[in-house]
Amino acid sequence: MAANQQTSVVARPSVFGPPAIDCDVHIAVPSIDTILPYLDEYWRAQFLMRGINRTSWTMTSEPPNAPINGRPDWRPAKGNPGTDLALLQTKALDGFGTSLAIANCIWGGMVLPSSDMSAAVCTAVNDWIAKEWLDREPRLRASIVVPQGNPELAVAEIERRAGDHRFVQVLMLIAGQNLIGNRANWPIFEAAQRHKLPVGIHAGSSYHHPMMAGWSSHYLEDYVAQSFAFEAGLVSLVSEGVFAKFPSLKVVLTESGVSWLPACTWRFDKTWRGVRGETPWVKRPLSEIARDHVRLTLQPFDGPDAGGVLEQVVEQLGSDRMILFSTDFPHWHYEGTDALPVKPSTPLGRRVLYENALETYPRLALTLPSKEPAT
Ligand code: ZN
Repeated sequence: MAANQQTSVVARPSVFGPPAIDCDVHIAVPSIDTILPYLDEYWRAQFLMRGINRTSWTMTSEPPNAPINGRPDWRPAKGNPGTDLALLQTKALDGFGTSLAIANCIWGGMVLPSSDMSAAVCTAVNDWIAKEWLDREPRLRASIVVPQGNPELAVAEIERRAGDHRFVQVLMLIAGQNLIGNRANWPIFEAAQRHKLPVGIHAGSSYHHPMMAGWSSHYLEDYVAQSFAFEAGLVSLVSEGVFAKFPSLKVVLTESGVSWLPACTWRFDKTWRGVRGETPWVKRPLSEIARDHVRLTLQPFDGPDAGGVLEQVVEQLGSDRMILFSTDFPHWHYEGTDALPVKPSTPLGRRVLYENALETYPRLALTLPSKEPAT
């Protein structure tokens, strides 16, 4: 497929009735050996000579054997969750009837201490994603994997990849070397805005710092604390002035949960009113800024089972444009296809299922049916 050929996918009814766009499915590099053919000669020799290919770069924040990271019926017979294209096609795409899905590849190669090695690996991973996933499945889109620890090299990778419109956003982890809004990261935001690419900020950490005030003992603590990192990250993005500097930038908080946001914006807005002189570039309360710049993927939905919770969150946020449908395949957050905590045929249901995604990602080309499918 030509690199910049944009494929338009005809929307089809999902299992919920209206069409659906899945804004977070996971694909995983099976092993370092997988990407050796995609590395240049120097790095391939280095990996073999230094035995790097015999190590594992699965993320501490995503241990593959943890039940939460692979639903039993979504695990391949061999290998880690997310490594099998056929399973993604049958279980995620066919299983939910999604018209498009955005693949996120979270891997240790994004956060290596060596910037040059990390950049080489990210280039190889993006080439691998294009060839082994995007070329083989027209319903799939992907995020650009970048060496987050070195924004200059991250920008170079964005420039290299931006011509291929099947890559629809830039992928970062919420917990890197600095708080995400730190000025060091601004070149990444500049490049993303220039190419009309949202920045997908996914749960995950480079572990330069603890997720909490100290190092935790258990994965349980680490996973729960991811949403705390998102709160800190959002406050950082706004306070540092990222959205003032990059007025058309959108960030998609991915696998962050959603129900924490109204409380976070309330606390920010109240405090900001008293100390706003400190950050004169923040001209509006966070609750307003978030409506323009922040989107959140749906799963794992962190609300009680009682009906109407998503509607309540949306009412508190003051916008029905912010939540994007996601399955978080192959992670285990629910059974069957019970991933949508709102009636699909309602205006909010349709916004969450596909309208919000189409507005958030300019590169998603989805031809909607002229007549709504029966629900
Ligand atoms: Zn995810």
